[in-house]
Amino acid sequence: MDYSLAVETALQRLHDEGRYRTFIDIVRTQGQFPHAMWRRPDGPETPVTVWCGNDYLGMGQHPDVLAAMHEALDATGAGSGGTRNISGTTAYHKALEAELADLHGKQSALLFTSAYIANDATLSTLPKLFPGLIIYSDELNHASMIEGIRRNGGAKRVFRHNDVAHLRELLAADDPAAPKLIAFESIYSMDGDFGPMAEICDLAEEFNALTYLDEVHAVGMYGPRGGGVAERDGLMDRIDIINGTLAKAYGVMGGYIAASAKMCDAIRSYAPGFIFTTSLPPAVAAGATASVRALKVDQTRRDQHQTQAKILKTRLKGLGLPLIDHGSHIVPVIVGDPVHTKKLSDMLLEDHGIYVQPINFPTVPRGTERLRFTPSPVHGPREMDALVKAMDVLWSHCALNRAELSA
Ligand code: PLP
Repeated sequence: MDYSLAVETALQRLHDEGRYRTFIDIVRTQGQFPHAMWRRPDGPETPVTVWCGNDYLGMGQHPDVLAAMHEALDATGAGSGGTRNISGTTAYHKALEAELADLHGKQSALLFTSAYIANDATLSTLPKLFPGLIIYSDELNHASMIEGIRRNGGAKRVFRHNDVAHLRELLAADDPAAPKLIAFESIYSMDGDFGPMAEICDLAEEFNALTYLDEVHAVGMYGPRGGGVAERDGLMDRIDIINGTLAKAYGVMGGYIAASAKMCDAIRSYAPGFIFTTSLPPAVAAGATASVRALKVDQTRRDQHQTQAKILKTRLKGLGLPLIDHGSHIVPVIVGDPVHTKKLSDMLLEDHGIYVQPINFPTVPRGTERLRFTPSPVHGPREMDALVKAMDVLWSHCALNRAELSA
C-alpha cells in the first residue's frame, strides 16, 4: 500500500467536495471578547469579531472565573499530576462535582475532561452495568453519543429525530423485560430545536427505561439557576443521567454527568474514559466552579443572551434570509451548499472582519450547509449592525435566494 498516496487521496476528497476545514488563527486578548485579532497566514493581524464561539455568555472573560483560576494556579501549580484514582483528585475537583450535583438536583456528579468524553465513556460503559441493555438514540444525537453507543457492543435502535411515535414503536417492539435507555439532547446545536423531553420521560416511565440527556447547549443558559432545559421545564428528577459541558456557556473546559450517587460511583468504577486519563488541572476546575456558581444567580445574563438572539433573528429574517428559528439561542442561516457557505464565510472574514465558520457535512446533512451565529450578551449593537449589514451585502453579492417579505 502507498500510505502517503492514500492519505493524500483522503484529503483531496474533502477538497473536491468543498468541505476541507481550515483553522482560523485567532489571537484573543483578555477582556476583549468577542473582539480578537486574526493572524492571516500571509499578512498582518486584522481585527475580527467572533460570531461562532460557544462561549455563549462571555463567561470565559468573567472576573470571578479568572480570579478563581489565578488563585488555584498560584496555589497548586499547573496540572493535576495524575488520574482521578492516582493522585489526581483535589479539593477543586470535589468542589466542582458538588456544585454540579447541586445544579442538577442530583446526589452526585462526575467530572470528565470534556463532555465528548463524558458521553462516550458513560454510554460505552452502561451495558457493563445493565447486561442486554438496548439504547434508543435520536438520529441527530451528537457524535460523542453515537460513538459511545457504537462502541459499547450492545443493542441500539435509532429513532427519527424528535419522533416520539417512532420511539414508542421501537420500544414496544422489544422484549418488555430488556433493560432500556433513551438517549437524547435538550437542544440540538445545529438547528437549535428542543428535544420533546416530557414526552420522552413519559415513554421512559411507561416502558421502564432509563433516560440520558445531553444538556451541553443548555447548561448555564436555561432554567432559573442555569440547570438547563430540564430545570426550566421542571423535569430534572425524571432524567436519570444528565450530561453537560463546562466549555460552552461556562466558558472554561471539561464535561460531566450528574446522576444518582450509585450511578456515578458505578461509572467512576467501570468507565475506561474516566479511569485511565489525567484529571482536569485544578485551575480549570476552580474556574468552572466559579462560573457555575456565578451563573446560578445571574438571570440577567441569561435574559440578555436570549434578547440578543431574538434581535439577531428578527433582523436577519427582516432581510429575508433563510433562518431556522425554534426559539432557542442558536441562529443558523441556511446557505445550502458547501461552496457558497465557504465563500460567504471567507468574505465575511476578509472583507468585513466577521468570523463565522462554515458548517458542512457530516456535521449537518448535505444541502443544509450553513452559517451558525452565536450572539451573546457581550456582542453589542455596533457588532450586530456590522454583521447584519455584511450579510445583506454578501447575500446579494452571491445572488442567494431570499424569502418573500410581507409588506
Ligand atoms: N454534546 C453536544 C451536543 C455537543 O455539541 C458537544 C460539542 O460541541 C459535546 C457534547 C462535546 O462537548 P465538549 O466540547 O465539552 O467536549
